[in-house]
Amino acid sequence: MVPNKRLADKVSIVTGAASGIGRATALLFAGQGSKVAVADVDEVGAAAAVREAGAHDSALAVRLDVSAESSWTNCIETVVARWGRLDVLVNCAGVAVATPVETTSLEEWRRVHAVNLDGVFLGTRAGIRAMRGRGGCIINIASLSGIEVFPGAAAYASSKAAVIQFSKVAAAECAHSANGVRITVIAPGGVKTPMWKTTRLWQDFADGGEEAAWRKLDPQNCFYEPEEIAECVLETC
Ligand code: NAP
Repeated sequence: MVPNKRLADKVSIVTGAASGIGRATALLFAGQGSKVAVADVDEVGAAAAVREAGAHDSALAVRLDVSAESSWTNCIETVVARWGRLDVLVNCAGVAVATPVETTSLEEWRRVHAVNLDGVFLGTRAGIRAMRGRGGCIINIASLSGIEVFPGAAAYASSKAAVIQFSKVAAAECAHSANGVRITVIAPGGVKTPMWKTTRLWQDFADGGEEAAWRKLDPQNCFYEPEEIAECVLETC
């Protein structure tokens, strides 16, 4: 933890902030002095993260489905009505489906792209519109799966590769138009979060209990903790 208030007087939205990397980021941001909207489809988890953030009026739970345009409108309006502006947006919400191409249904394919890719597009667009003129930064969370080849999760990998290229183009557009908005993309390797527990891979490993499942999933013990990724996000602000 950096011992200062790097985000004092800033207003942030973190999506997927009820769990994992998003939650760690929202808590770190609140600790760094930001007002934080903890935005997630999981309202119970978002409310719990707000309670953990603690400081009075520094965190707000907002129900957000990143794949729905109207949900973004509501989220931005809620934050601007509460705190007057938006300075930082972290597009972190995501879902994983770990199945080979042959057994991936069209429904699964579309769900992964709706959340991971449409969600980042809608969020980035809403963020640019809210920050234009005043400036701000948008950080999109992709994945190493969008760069390297890990067989068994083609829909996830495809969505994350698209997030990387989308973010580069959006960043170039913002730089070209000099609208004051800076866009970056982070592509972490494996991170020890609940997302893994939604995959078939985890179900295959889970017989011997949680610790054994993590050891099978990450035999070289090289997964990151969510707090380490949160520190990277903070560094890019
Ligand atoms: P996580 O612990 O499962 O957190 C993801 C959060 O996003 C959950 O609270 C989830 O709610 C929420 N969410 C799902 N669909 C949503 C929607 N439509 N709108 C708003 N929120 C939604 O996962 P994580 O590992 O922290 O993942 C965060 C991001 O990091 C994702 O984009 C992921 O792809 C990326 N990432 C993860 C890893 C890793 O190894 N864990 C590695 C690289 C990149 P529910 O629980 O209710 O679905």
